Amino acid sequence: MSEKACRQCKFISRGNRCPNCNSTDLSDDFSGFVIILNAEESEIAKMMNVTKKGKYALKVR
Ligand SMILES: [Zn+2]
Repeated sequence: MSEKACRQCKFISRGNRCPNCNSTDLSDDFSGFVIILNAEESEIAKMMNVTKKGKYALKVR
């Protein structure tokens, strides 16, 4: 199964439901990603409003 990005929180996962926010509004049409390892100390995480570590898409269509 290919990776999909959540349209709500941009979390990237494999499956039909976002494990981060439980949304089923997923898209396989996304570009770029960042990996957040330490959400509390990451400036990127703050910019993206991310509180949980994981892989996030930069753009989701
Ligand atoms: Zn989500």
